[in-house]
Amino acid sequence: MGNELLKTVYSPENFRKKGHELVDQLADHLSASLNGTSDKVIRWTPPEDEYTYWKNFLENGDTTQLFPKIIEHSTHVHNPKYIGHQVGPPAPMASLAGLISALLNNGMAVYEMGMAPTAMERIITEFICSKIGYGENSRGFLTSGGTLANLTALLSARKAILKHDIWNMGNDGELGIMVCEEAHYCIERAAKIMGLGTKGIITIPATDNYSMDVSLLEEYYQKAVKEKLTVFAIVGSAPSTATGVFDNLEAIARFALKHNIWFHVDGAHGGASIFSPKYRPTLKGMDQADSVVIDGHKMMMMPTITTALLFKNGNHSHSTFSQKADYLLEQSEHEDWYNLAKRTFECTKTMMSIQWYTLLKTYGEAVFDAYVTTLYDLGSYFGERIEKNPQFELAVRPMSNIVCFRYIDGRSTTADLNHLNERIRQRLLEEGEYYIVQTKLRGVHYLRTTIMNPFTTPKDLNLLLDRVKTLALDISTSD
Ligand SMILES: *Cc1c(COP(=O)(O)O)cnc(C)c1O
Repeated sequence: MGNELLKTVYSPENFRKKGHELVDQLADHLSASLNGTSDKVIRWTPPEDEYTYWKNFLENGDTTQLFPKIIEHSTHVHNPKYIGHQVGPPAPMASLAGLISALLNNGMAVYEMGMAPTAMERIITEFICSKIGYGENSRGFLTSGGTLANLTALLSARKAILKHDIWNMGNDGELGIMVCEEAHYCIERAAKIMGLGTKGIITIPATDNYSMDVSLLEEYYQKAVKEKLTVFAIVGSAPSTATGVFDNLEAIARFALKHNIWFHVDGAHGGASIFSPKYRPTLKGMDQADSVVIDGHKMMMMPTITTALLFKNGNHSHSTFSQKADYLLEQSEHEDWYNLAKRTFECTKTMMSIQWYTLLKTYGEAVFDAYVTTLYDLGSYFGERIEKNPQFELAVRPMSNIVCFRYIDGRSTTADLNHLNERIRQRLLEEGEYYIVQTKLRGVHYLRTTIMNPFTTPKDLNLLLDRVKTLALDISTSD
């Protein structure tokens, strides 16, 4: 009986049939989303209702409707009016590549469990290293997300910079890292996981335009040293998540070099502009970083979750988790680069390099330039439109495809406007025609957009502004 069930589960014919059906459903979905013929980006329901829906579905739902209903109840990132978070619309070829991983399920921890993707991973990371401007000794690997990659990089930094062998001996004394107040929250989380505590996170204030105030670095460093902190790393954001503003990586590089501390660049979002001749200057100084993080699932058209972590000195990419700190460093000529779990946080991970390799092989690196350049261009267009419109205010002139703005009326207090913009965003969410998000910067509530879809048009952006205005009036008069 059980055996019969399992035979059904693994039936190749069933897979073929269902697979074709699913690809057809997804292709129809893609077509409707891209053309904007599907009316909504999101059919928002309150979490409790969604929970009840799927509880009932498990009991009474029609199994043939399972996949279509999942599609219906998800946010449609391929819709040009999806202008919210930084997770983007994957290139369908990359999604298909992900299916290979989902079925072949090679675990990637050791070479035999993923020979092709292990080799591809080396090729891809070498390629990215060369695009960053790193030399021959650079190396990297792929890992599950920017959050994990940032933690891994800071662990590498600690191992590389400190004389004391914390990995084996445990911590003695107090350690610190320097990072701008605008950095992604995962940096603070990484520092706390590493036991640095609040005191160990030396938070550098941002300038008026939300980038790290590098004029304060020396002062904050000296103060930390006086308090007996051993500062071992500084993190630059390229760009920071909330505003999309880039830190001055060149200045940070100079500072790190002067004090012999590790320089890490969190380029989860914007690192991909190494492929855009037009926007590459946003990353000036990144080639001097000891380590760099770039998310594939943000600005590189890949499905979640895949991140590249690159090291200027490849030896460090091997030593982070090694028990004997010096062993691998000495033997780097013969390091078994192909047994990836020695170098990554994960034991098992997906065959994520296939997605990078597939895009590169199918379309060439020009595809990454086309994507990043198109989206950053749209960001700057949208910024200009907002700037020219007296009913809107930019948080900061956009440096990327992240644009934060708010509706203003020239009369209300900050608190009233905060409330109004919050309600505008909630109404937009419930309407579902557009999907945008929100952020609070220095007590001011902003609508936050990330233009992730290269088929979002200037017209879509202008219509969004019109919609926000209409909602603002509607809310104001109904109060
Ligand atoms: C998105 C983001 C992260 C987190 O990356 P995940 O892949 O979501 O874990 C870290 N830093 C920055 C700057 C980001 O934009």
